Formats: sequence, structure tokens, C-alpha cells
Amino acid sequence: MVNLTKNFMHVGPTELKKIQLIPEAIICHIDESTLFDSTANSSEKLARDLKQNYPQCEYFGHRLEEVFGPEFTRNGAVDKILRSTSGGVENTDYEHYMKCVQSNSQKSQTEQLKQLFNSIKKTTAKEDLLWNIKMEMLVTVARREGCAYIFIADSATRQAIKMIAMTSKGRGYSVPLDVGVDNNQSFKDLSIMRPMKDILSKEIGFYNHFSNITGFETLPYNYSTMMPAKTSIDRLTEEFIVSIEREFPSTVSTICRTVLKLTPSANINFTKTCAICLMPFEADIGEWRKHITVTDVLDADESMTKSKEGCGDCSSPAGGCCGGGGDDEGSKKELQIDVNKFLCYSCQVNIKDYSEISIESLPPYVTEAVCDQSRDNRLLSQIKDFLIEDSDDDEK
Ligand SMILES: [Zn+2]
Repeated sequence: MVNLTKNFMHVGPTELKKIQLIPEAIICHIDESTLFDSTANSSEKLARDLKQNYPQCEYFGHRLEEVFGPEFTRNGAVDKILRSTSGGVENTDYEHYMKCVQSNSQKSQTEQLKQLFNSIKKTTAKEDLLWNIKMEMLVTVARREGCAYIFIADSATRQAIKMIAMTSKGRGYSVPLDVGVDNNQSFKDLSIMRPMKDILSKEIGFYNHFSNITGFETLPYNYSTMMPAKTSIDRLTEEFIVSIEREFPSTVSTICRTVLKLTPSANINFTKTCAICLMPFEADIGEWRKHITVTDVLDADESMTKSKEGCGDCSSPAGGCCGGGGDDEGSKKELQIDVNKFLCYSCQVNIKDYSEISIESLPPYVTEAVCDQSRDNRLLSQIKDFLIEDSDDDEK
């Protein structure tokens, strides 16, 4: 993608009619070697290669664990953590009630990252969280550098795999935005583009070979790399699509044509976004899930109200949500927030594979999103009697 982008960045003196489509571009690489030892030193090589061969692009490298640092949080306060409340009637298979409390973590960013991923039980949940963290970092870097577009090098093959895998993971509501070719809706100030969506992964291999750039390739590594097909949903879908494509070469292009036709739902609400994956989600998922989930908790409604009331009690403006939490157990209980309300269905399903330690070590951007949105909801409920409902008037 870098090589193709370069071709649009300059106009040769003989090409009078050609215009410079991309005035400037930056390359952002996220180093995952803390999680995957086999990728160690690859980012140094990549930085060296890119700086030498693509001097027209500025290069930024970030380590994955920097997501815990002040640069990747909005207000720089990284001392808030989410805590899973274990035991009690509220804690059913799905319902993870959490409270956010203040804690000064003494651990290094590397340790925090390892702790987060080591205590997640399923590979699918690990892969999703890894992608969500990378996406959050890319968005933050793009905003910092004043970029209007993010180019993601998803090939047609990758698009087809993502589309099927995301649908099976329960991301149907936001899938047009997750895999869309030109997504300018989920972020107000940014467009996510996938310029390589028409090229098969095999064709990219050929292009790299004939352009003599195979030397710059860094092999991607993930939790399911070199693992059996049943390791994760993504891995299984990859195996499925690639094996059909071998027999029926039009499989990927057929799925990709369907991806092009997908549009977000007309009544999609962009003001409410998932705290983990940053995508909009459907309201009242909890209600819907109650109808499809068998649970032995009888007073679920009651506990919901309890946590809502708790939310209303934490209104310290200086420290954000729960900043003024007391030390005694009683007052901490009142600060309980149901984080499920701030997550999309797919992330809610994933979070049940997180152990308590993982929930506690979720990156600060998740906590910030939960705190900000719960504060907004609280404010809205306080002033709702003074708001003029315009939807009813329109109908009349
Ligand atoms: Zn989500």
C-alpha cells in the first residue's frame, strides 16, 4: 500500500494531465513484539527500510503497550481502572457488573499489556481486543497529526474473511462500518478507507514480487498464526474462505460485491459508541438479550436500577466519574456502573471470556469512554424534564 500510495504523491514532468492526488502521507506502525516474540526487531528493520526507500512519507512507530500511556488518553488521567464485581446475584454468565474505582497502578506498561492478554480465555476475544486497541491507536495518531483519512491495507480476501467472521461474531449492526470501503460516518473528523479492497492477496504477492519490494515485507503475526483452524472464529473463517476460493475462484469477489452493497441502518445512532471497539451500537441490547438468554436471576430489573442509582451518586466534576470515591466498602458499592450498557453486543460476548484481572487492566481509553458516557447519561436524565421533545411535534 505504501508503494502504491507513493505513485499518487508525485507527478512526473511529462505527465501533464495527472494530478497529485495525495499531497502528503504518514506511515504509522504499531509494534506488537511485546505480545509476539517472533516479531521482535522487525519494526526496527521496517523503520530503516521505509525511511530509506520512502523518504517522502513521515514514519511513526508506536509500541502496543503505549496505549496505557498518557498520549493515548484524552485527559491524561490514567489512574482509573474498571473492576469486575465477582459473586453476588448480579453476576450471571453474561452480566458483568463493574465499578470504576481510583487506583494508582505501579505496573509498567509492558506488564499491564501482558497481564491484559494473558488472562483472556478465548483466542477470538484476544484477537478482537488486539484489533480494537490498534484501531484506537491509529485513530489517535491520525487526529494528532491532523490526517483526514486513514488508509487500511485490507485486501479483497481479507475483506471477505472479515465480513463473514464479523457477522458470526454478532457485529451485524456495525459491519457496514467495520468493513466498509469508505467509512466517513463512524468518526466525525476522519474517514477510514480501504484502497486495496479489489486486489486479492495472491495478486498483492505478485505485485510485490514484480515491484521488487518483497524485501520490505513484514509477516503479520496474530494469536492464531500457524495454529489449527478451530483456534478462533477469524482463523476458521479464513480456512473456510481460502479453501472454497481454491475450488471456486469467484468466491472472494462475490462476497466483496455484497460488502459494497451494505449500508448502515437508517436509524443508526452515532452518538452512542462502544467503549471498546468505538463503533455505534444498537440501543436496548440488554432487553433483547434477556429474551434469548436463559438466566436464573429473577430480580435482574432490580439490580439494573440499583446500579443506575449508584451512577447518579458519583458526580465529582474534577476527577471525572468516581474520582471522589471513598475508601469504605459501602460507598464503593454505590459507584457501581454496568459497563455492558456502554458496549456493543459483540464486545459484551467477548468480555465474558475476560478474567477479572483482564477487566481491571483494560486500557484507559475504555474507562474514559465509560465514564464520559455515563456522565452524559446522568446529565441527560437530570435535565430531561426541561427538554422539548421534537419527534412528537414533527409527527403531528
Ligand atoms: Zn464493541
